[in-house]
Amino acid sequence: MSNLDPRPDAVSLQAGVVHAVDVLEARKAAIGDGTEVRRLLPQRALRTIGAWCFLDHYGPDDTSAGAGMRVPPHPHIGLQTASWLFDGLVLHRDSLGSEQLIRPGELNLMTSGRGIAHSEESPAVRPGLLHGVQLWIALPAAQQFTEPDFAHHADLPVIAAAGGDGATITVVAGEHGGERSPATMFSPLVGLQVTLPDGGEVTLPAAEGFEYGVLAADGPASIGCPAVAGAPARIEPGMLAHLPAGVPSITVSASGPSRLFIVGGVPLGDKLVMWWNFVARTAEEIVTARDNWAAGEFGEVRGYAGEPLAAPPLPPGGLKPR
Ligand code: MN
Repeated sequence: MSNLDPRPDAVSLQAGVVHAVDVLEARKAAIGDGTEVRRLLPQRALRTIGAWCFLDHYGPDDTSAGAGMRVPPHPHIGLQTASWLFDGLVLHRDSLGSEQLIRPGELNLMTSGRGIAHSEESPAVRPGLLHGVQLWIALPAAQQFTEPDFAHHADLPVIAAAGGDGATITVVAGEHGGERSPATMFSPLVGLQVTLPDGGEVTLPAAEGFEYGVLAADGPASIGCPAVAGAPARIEPGMLAHLPAGVPSITVSASGPSRLFIVGGVPLGDKLVMWWNFVARTAEEIVTARDNWAAGEFGEVRGYAGEPLAAPPLPPGGLKPR
């Protein structure tokens, strides 16, 4: 997660000025006990999309043999975690005492605020396939130390997408097409799943001032915008299409059954300090959180069969906002 490049200036679509849809490649990372993920955010060239500051895409993995996903108890501050599955089943536990299974189409939303610890694991009885995304949302400075909270949302709005052949849009976070997710958010943002059961093309109006990122969960897809020069960007799993703030709409298309996940929001003005599982505004806040975790002050995650994760050593060069 270390990255010394400052975030490039946000681009905007002014009259006569057009920008291509950027395609960013994931880097491979491991979480917990061996699950490999494609890390799409943060990137050297793109730290955040709106307040979305972390995006891992994993699977589809066959977890029918072995233990499956095992992410031992670890702490968070200054962010919300959003867990979203395309296939499979995951069990969440946290230091508030929550114990919650999550299935495809449901959102587990944990607001860390001043501090929470959680674990995520494959339950013993589960479908074989595991496929999903793990996202973080940076809390605004005014709420970064809010009270920790956990919410499970099993009933999210699903909209029939105009023009798509049976296509639907699930409003995971924020508002789209007149429907609002019940999930509590602290900044202007949106999270959507677009489902194309037989491929096809769907155009989504963009929210004013939002930038967007699109990932393809299942296979190749094309991401375009009528206002953006050039051919639509071709992405596949492991790639993120970025559309700059100011685009009027997003067109997604695929030749076969496809699910895409879209994150969007007003570009973040704050400089964040992100280190390990912490999001903060200053290095001191990170060091304090690390000390508090080492001292056992985040509370206990009961029921997880295994030791909590220890924080890695702080970087010798120090922690800088960016
Ligand atoms: Mn976590």
